[in-house]
Amino acid sequence: MTVSNVYPTAPLRALDAAHHLHPFSDMKSLNAEGSRVIVRAKGCWLEDSDGNRILDGMAGLWCVNVGHGRPEIAEAVAAQMGELSYYNTFFKTTHPPVIKLAGMLADLAPPAFNHVFFTGSGSESNDTVMRMVRTYWQTLEKPEKTVIIARKNAYHGSTMAGASLGGMAPMHKQGGLPIPGIHHIAQPYWFDEGGDLSPAEFGLKAAQELEAAIDEIGEDKVAAFIAEPVQGAGGVIIPPETYWPEIARICKEREILLVADEVICGFGRLGKWFGSEHFGIEPDLMPIAKGLSSGYLPIGGVMVADRIADVLVNATGDFNHGFTYSGHPVACAAAIANLTILRDEKIVERVADDIGPYLQKKWAALAGHPLVGEARMIGLMGALELVPSSPARRRFAGDAGRAGTICRDFSFRNGLVMRAVRDSMIISPPLVITHAEADELVRLTEKTLDDTHAELTRQGMM
Ligand code: PMP
Repeated sequence: MTVSNVYPTAPLRALDAAHHLHPFSDMKSLNAEGSRVIVRAKGCWLEDSDGNRILDGMAGLWCVNVGHGRPEIAEAVAAQMGELSYYNTFFKTTHPPVIKLAGMLADLAPPAFNHVFFTGSGSESNDTVMRMVRTYWQTLEKPEKTVIIARKNAYHGSTMAGASLGGMAPMHKQGGLPIPGIHHIAQPYWFDEGGDLSPAEFGLKAAQELEAAIDEIGEDKVAAFIAEPVQGAGGVIIPPETYWPEIARICKEREILLVADEVICGFGRLGKWFGSEHFGIEPDLMPIAKGLSSGYLPIGGVMVADRIADVLVNATGDFNHGFTYSGHPVACAAAIANLTILRDEKIVERVADDIGPYLQKKWAALAGHPLVGEARMIGLMGALELVPSSPARRRFAGDAGRAGTICRDFSFRNGLVMRAVRDSMIISPPLVITHAEADELVRLTEKTLDDTHAELTRQGMM
């Protein structure tokens, strides 16, 4: 029996179009075209309802770090379902999976982190951050310290607080965002915004915008600065080496908290358990999600450094915040099984010492393609900047994102999930990708670039 007999594509698409509103989608054009129906996945490979095998170059949505279909996680989830499928962690109760997961996270995180507040997603984690930092300053009798400084083109989630902390202009346009009390500064995106400065000079300049913003707003009003160690959804923007040390200096000298959004960078993506460790950042709070469970079940959290936790734990009264699914026992069981795999199979170390450098070298060579202005990768997240005249840092005239969309569509047709952010092509494969699969990823990318180049030439864009 073929897969298409089991999953008839056309009626599924019709039902999907009739009833399902997709996230971040233009429903009219999606319904006209029809969604891809993914029916199963194993390791780094997806299979669609027509029986096509597709290399998952994005690990789902940057989350499937241990790869798809690990039976250990399925078994842990089934066992926990049988034992205690749900109970809450409000009102003086707890349960073994949440206790065990909190302990495991304290062991895996940098020494300063010994507490975690659980949520159901990265967005909820960033909403929690916002309420937590303000509560922290209120507890210290500095209630006027409320403003959070974030960055343009950052992504921190899709809830009202998450989307407001994020710096995505198209998101702000819908629904009257950002909410008050958030200030956005420049991102360290040298390729697009560095002008004539060297990356090092530009990194310093971008970081110093934080100091200028603190001065402008007033240190007595600023609660925290939030940033992803490497911007993910913004386009895998790897900051110049000068950036994080300068940010760390400013945060140390000023009385503001540093929040490293580890939702993508955490759990091995950069070859360390946390992206902060890669850059030597010592944050006060770390929102987490995605790789915490490798996406097997929804779970997130906020890791809290001791100096913050001490204040919150010893404050008088309740922290009036939490979610029905904070510390969901089955999601915790999935996370424990996932972290056990990451730890025992030394998958994080493998990203640093083996598969990371291997794929980075091959990826860097793509810079020789006439369509590529820059090929960058850190750990196992990478980007290609599509340009009309390689190697110049100049974008296609007119419609930003058109070349990216064409390239993304070829990529899918060629059997590789790559994502387009405007005219940047990005990848973030499962951390378990083999050398042979990495070779295949690069081969499919080259073919996709060739196809895109031919099409853009045909359309007179090159
Ligand atoms: N923070 C970062 C850095 C993210 O990349 C994301 C999701 N892409 C989020 C927060 C939001 O996570 P979620 O989609 O689980 O709410």
